[in-house]
Amino acid sequence: MKQHIFLSSPHMSEEGYEKKYIEEAFDTNWIAPLGKNVTEFEKEMEEKIGAGKAVALSAGTAAIHMALKSIGVSQGDVVFCQSLTFSATANPIVYEKAEPVFIDSECDTWNMSPKALEEAFEKYVEMGRKPKAVMIVHLYGICAKIDEIAEICGRYQVPLIEDAAESLGSTYKGRYTGTFGDYGIISFNGNKIITSSGGGMLLVNTEDAEKRAEKVLYWSTQAREPAPWYQHTEIGYNYRMSNIVAGIGRGQLKVLDQRVEKKRCIQEYYQKHLGDLCGLHFMPAPKDTRCNCWLSVVQLDEDCQVKPLDIIKALEAEDVESRPVWKPMHLQPVFSGCDFISLTGDLHIVDDETGADNSISGQIFKHGVCLPSDSKMTDEDLQRICDTIRMLWEQTSSENSGR
Ligand SMILES: *Cc1c(COP(=O)(O)O)cnc(C)c1O
Repeated sequence: MKQHIFLSSPHMSEEGYEKKYIEEAFDTNWIAPLGKNVTEFEKEMEEKIGAGKAVALSAGTAAIHMALKSIGVSQGDVVFCQSLTFSATANPIVYEKAEPVFIDSECDTWNMSPKALEEAFEKYVEMGRKPKAVMIVHLYGICAKIDEIAEICGRYQVPLIEDAAESLGSTYKGRYTGTFGDYGIISFNGNKIITSSGGGMLLVNTEDAEKRAEKVLYWSTQAREPAPWYQHTEIGYNYRMSNIVAGIGRGQLKVLDQRVEKKRCIQEYYQKHLGDLCGLHFMPAPKDTRCNCWLSVVQLDEDCQVKPLDIIKALEAEDVESRPVWKPMHLQPVFSGCDFISLTGDLHIVDDETGADNSISGQIFKHGVCLPSDSKMTDEDLQRICDTIRMLWEQTSSENSGR
């Protein structure tokens, strides 16, 4: 029987590192709270990727929330946020009652357009509403134009947050994503390149990282004051990672490089076996960057006979999971009241079914498909997927020649 193929599912180490760390936690009864795995996981991450201070939290979303709080984002503040992303990037802005202003992507990287960001700054500074923070995303592991964006943020003296939830292991000019911004965030959710079964990490890269990380630790452990009784002067959160979860994370960090290699091989396989299909293009690979290829994503030309949904349905019939590209935040009903800055002049809806518009992010959404990228796939699995996809092209070309 053919096995179900996942888009991207948990892949524990062959060596059983994760179990070893969990067992250690059991043996010492450090099940909760905190414990050695948590602090070691933070240290190991700092060393592995060269981050300032790492704080292990219950989710990547919690890490974004804490980054915003650490910057002091509050009611009425503006935060510039990449539109093409998962909603978890933007939601914490609203938790703090601030206002997201969404920025369009560029074709080169699919991530925040530095030119659109510059335009947003001009508009909002003119209005006397300089943003409190800028949040970029390295979508699917593709690096954003970090240098250009950091230069703009530096010029306006606005802190930069890197949502590196999908890009752990990707490098930009030889340095890991998540270590460039004042803050970086990582996710260990079940579908990410490594998983702790659920969890996240905040990376603080500022000069006063130690102090800021300490404050985040305080907020994320219910904001308890150092008193012999329960004393509180601020609202706290229960955001800290558990010692068991951290044990899985530590084991997974040991195989991060292996996972990146495998994910890159998957993309190479697709390029080799699908690269000749008419109207199909792969995600960009900006120069001086190395992508972790968390997901392999393709774009279909507007006039391509095969549509993204055709691929998704054909794979589904084979019990293979694929997904559309994230639908941009500026097109989401929940954010309909928010401003959107794009260099595409006249914005209008071009697809009534999905609600895609003619912005760059809208077009990437409309034409994109995330192909199965599970690191446990074999070459046979990949061949099965490529055969299914190639069949769609063969069908349309035979339909055309029969006309
Ligand atoms: C997964 C993801 C998050 C959220 O991480 P969680 O650990 O699931 O909270 C944030 N941003 C992006 C871009 C993601 O893909």
